[in-house]
Amino acid sequence: MSYASQVSGIFGKLGIELPDAASGIEVRSPIDGNVILAVPASTQAEFSASVERAQACFLKWRNVPAPQRGALVRAFGEKVRQHKPTLGRLVTIETGKILQEGLGEVQEVIDICEFALGQSRQLYGLAIASERPDHKLLETWHPLGVVGIISAFNFPMAVWAWNAALALVCGDTLVWKPSEKTPLSALAINGLLLAAARESGVDAAGLSEVVIGELDLGEALVAHPGVRLVSATGSTAMGRAVGEACARLFKRSLLELGGNNAAIVCPSADSQLAVRAVTFAAVGTAGQRCTTLRRLFVHRAGCAQFVKRLLAAYENLPIGNPLHEGTLIGPLIDQGIYERMQAALQAARAAGGTVHYGGRIDVGLGGFYVRPALVEMPAQTGPMCEETFAPILYVVPYDGLDEAIEWNNAVSHGLSSAIFTRDLQEAETFISARGSDCGISNVNIGTSGAEIGGAFGGEKDTGGGREAGSDAWKNYMRRATNTINYGTSLPLAQGIRFEV
Ligand code: NAD
Repeated sequence: MSYASQVSGIFGKLGIELPDAASGIEVRSPIDGNVILAVPASTQAEFSASVERAQACFLKWRNVPAPQRGALVRAFGEKVRQHKPTLGRLVTIETGKILQEGLGEVQEVIDICEFALGQSRQLYGLAIASERPDHKLLETWHPLGVVGIISAFNFPMAVWAWNAALALVCGDTLVWKPSEKTPLSALAINGLLLAAARESGVDAAGLSEVVIGELDLGEALVAHPGVRLVSATGSTAMGRAVGEACARLFKRSLLELGGNNAAIVCPSADSQLAVRAVTFAAVGTAGQRCTTLRRLFVHRAGCAQFVKRLLAAYENLPIGNPLHEGTLIGPLIDQGIYERMQAALQAARAAGGTVHYGGRIDVGLGGFYVRPALVEMPAQTGPMCEETFAPILYVVPYDGLDEAIEWNNAVSHGLSSAIFTRDLQEAETFISARGSDCGISNVNIGTSGAEIGGAFGGEKDTGGGREAGSDAWKNYMRRATNTINYGTSLPLAQGIRFEV
């Protein structure tokens, strides 16, 4: 059965209308590279109407008690749980990630809904001691408004859900521009939210709008005065444009951008565990995760042996149809990424690197399938200092831990990092103030595969934003400080005297 008819069956099962247009944005499955269908792009008038609906809905939604807002998010999460296999399959067809990871992505949506439900009863402020008699200070939190979400192709449901579940319990409404490469996953998951709203008796109009288009629509979302926060996930180039445009408008932005993540393998590491963790982090999702491991520093004494074991693991990786059980590596999203990968490997050779694997392989489906590349580099140089969003792992031997930590921090990105060691001093140093400068620093576990309970995001060119878990809810609310005088006089702050 073609992927077009499979997608049509999936939408039928979900009870969601599948848009189809003679012309529009062509959606391809990276599994075979063929067009699934064309989705009509939103016109400027449709986009404006979406923002206006979201603004009108916000005026009502902000008055709904937060735990009741949480009840809607719970109902939505239950719906997603019920349809998990169907949704996981859709993610795989549209992104090419293996079915296990497609299902994992849907699980993340369920998890963040559960988290947000609990959070809906914990949107707490502070009561602060005042310097004046019979006064108190309060810090209170209120819904923000319309949240604009721009998302990348590689997490076509979860990234939106991290934002949406928390923003909805915080009392906000949403306008989402998904990646032009993955609008079907967006329409499906958003359709389930709206169905959950209708079944819960919530007026769904404007609660969460999906607008379909390319980067110009993203720019329009950023520029629209009705959007109070732009949460943008994607490349650093995109984030720089969005961040600058938001700054000019004094609009809030939450940026989740690229990563050039590293791991250090110390002499005391459990090497079997480290080989498995490094392999998953470097080749999982065919190297197309923001947290994919791209740089590896192995202590010189064990480096040659470690590389040998990695190469053996790489040689046996099952590459092919991501829907088939047993496949561990699916296709790259498109030809563009394939070409960028080959250019990076060429640059690595020119910089003195020894390239193992990395070429295109024919799995009999069409599409762009590669054996992930492992590159032995003489030093951290050339393309190793950039994020190439493809499965390339650069390896460099190190002599001292301080040197390895310095290299870990010496690139412009600051998303994820890891150390493999059984030495307490090394582990603690790595996660200390003089250790890794990344938003995520792990011990004896790879750079990818974060849980929703912890704040997710990174520093420097990764944008500085934090989503999911921890206190990320504060992104989606505005804070007010209230000074309350319950006395009969009017003492002024700082002891100022002003008698009239
Ligand atoms: P991309 O930057 O090409 O596109 C992401 C989204 O931004 C798309 O919806 C696109 O239409 C939109 N966009 C692009 N330019 C824009 C502009 N100037 N104004 C407004 N919108 C614009 O990224 P991609 O290829 O879809 O995804 C891969 C990138 O995303 C990698 O760099 C990866 O590391 C990053 N990523 C980061 C995270 C994270 O949480 N840090 C998660 C997933 C992906």
